[in-house]
Amino acid sequence: MKGRSYKEQIARRLTLVTALIVMVVFAIIYLVVSFTVVQNIDKELELETQKHVGQIFLENGVIKFMHKDEWQEQEHQQIQLNPIFIEIVDLEGNSMDKSPNLRNNRLKYFPGRGSDEDAWTIKIGDQEVRQKQILLKNKGELEGYLLVATSFEDASELLSKLRLILLVLYPGILISLYLIMLYLAGKSIQPIQKIIHKTNQITQSSLDERVPILDREDEIGQLTRSINELLDRLEQSMIREKQFTSDASHELRTPLSVLRGTLEVLIRKPRTSEQYVEKIQTALTSIDRMSSMIDQLLALARVEKANISPKDEVEIISFVEELADQAKLETGRDVQFIPESSVPIFVHVSEKSLQMILNNLIQNAVKYTQGTVNLVVGKTDREGYILVKDEGPGISQESLSKIFDPFYRDPEVLEKVIPGTGLGLAIVKKLALETGVKISVMSDKEEGSTFRLTF
Ligand code: ADP
Repeated sequence: MKGRSYKEQIARRLTLVTALIVMVVFAIIYLVVSFTVVQNIDKELELETQKHVGQIFLENGVIKFMHKDEWQEQEHQQIQLNPIFIEIVDLEGNSMDKSPNLRNNRLKYFPGRGSDEDAWTIKIGDQEVRQKQILLKNKGELEGYLLVATSFEDASELLSKLRLILLVLYPGILISLYLIMLYLAGKSIQPIQKIIHKTNQITQSSLDERVPILDREDEIGQLTRSINELLDRLEQSMIREKQFTSDASHELRTPLSVLRGTLEVLIRKPRTSEQYVEKIQTALTSIDRMSSMIDQLLALARVEKANISPKDEVEIISFVEELADQAKLETGRDVQFIPESSVPIFVHVSEKSLQMILNNLIQNAVKYTQGTVNLVVGKTDREGYILVKDEGPGISQESLSKIFDPFYRDPEVLEKVIPGTGLGLAIVKKLALETGVKISVMSDKEEGSTFRLTF
C-alpha cells in the first residue's frame, strides 16, 4: 500500500491537535505556578521590608539598625529556613550597614529605584534572590535606601523541577496517545477492511455475491448496503445484457435458417421459373426481416451511446398535426388529429427524439389495428400530453408490463404472423428516458390501446 494508511492519518492528525492543546495547557500550568510562587515570595518580602523599615533610625546622619543584636539573634535563628538579607546604602550607593548573613557579599543597589516598584530577581554570589529597594526618608529628606532580599533558591528549584516534569511528560503523553489512537482507529476501520477484502473478491463471474450486511445503522452499515445495491444493479444489467445478446442472436438466426432452408430446397433439383420466383421471394422476405432487425438494433445502440441530444422548444399542437398529416399520406389510414387545447403548448424536448417516438407508436397503431388512429394533444394544469390512441385488439395484462422489453412480442401477434422485431417499443422507451418524457400505456381488450406521453 502506497502512502500512509487511513488509521495512521487519523492517529497523526488527532495527535497533532492534542499536541497543540497539551502544549498550551502545560504552558498555562507553568506560568500560573511560577506566578503564584513569585507572588508568595514577594508578599513575604514586602512583610519583611515593612518589619525592618521600622527598625532603622538615624544617629548623627548615620543610618543604624535598632536592636541590632536582637535582630541578629532573630535572623540567626531563622537563617536556615528562610534567610532575609538586608543592606542599607546612602544616596550614592555606599554600604552603610548590612546583615551579617550577607558575609562578604553585597546586595545590588539600583540607583533611582523607588519603593513602589516590584521586587526583581538577582544573583548574590552563587545564590538567586528576590530583592526589593525602599527609599529611606527622615523628616521629608532622602537619606538612603534599604535593600531587602530573600532567597529564591527553593522557588527556582521547584520551577525547574516542574519544567523538567512537564518536558518529560509532553513527549510521553504524545507517544502513548499516538499509539492508542492508532489502535482505536485500526479497530474502527476493521469493518471497512473486511468490505474491501470482500469487494476485491467479487468479479464479473461472481456478481451474485454480496458484502456481508453489518447490523449497524452508522455510515459503515450504509456503505455495505450501498455497495450491495450497486451490485444488485450491476447484476441486473449484466443479466439484461446477456439476455439481450442471446435474444438478438436467436432472432437473427431464425430468418437466417429460413433463408438457408429455402436456398437448400432450391438447389436440390431444377425448378420451374414460378417456383424459383416463389422461393426467391421467401428468401428476400427473410433478408428484409434481418435487415430491418439490424437497422433497429443499430438504432437502439445509437440511442444508448448518444449523448443526451440538445433539447428544443417544441410547440406540440402544430408538431403533432404535421405528423398526423404525414402518417395519413404514408399509410393511407384514418389518422385523426384531436387538439384539446386552443392555445399553443410549448415543451422542452429533443425534437428528433420526439419524432422517432411518435413515428414508432403510430406505426404500431397502424400495424396492429384496423380502425382509426387518434392523435390527441392537450395540457393539464401542470403538464402537456400527447396520446396515441387506437381502436384495435388491445394488449393483454400479462404483455402490458413486458412490451417495452427488447424482442418481446405478444403471443397473439406472433400467431397472426404480423411482421416486427419486438425492438420498436424498447427504442421508444430509451428515447423517452433520454429526452425526459414520461411514457405510459393503458389498454383494454375491447377499447384498444392508448400510449400517453407526458412532458
Ligand atoms: P414489434 O412491433 O416489432 O413487435 P414493438 O416493440 O414495437 O415491436 O412492440 C412490442 C409488442 O407490443 C408488439 O409485438 C405487440 O404485441 C405490442 N403492441 C405494441 N403496440 C401495440 C398496439 N398499438 N396494439 C396492440 N399491441 C401492440
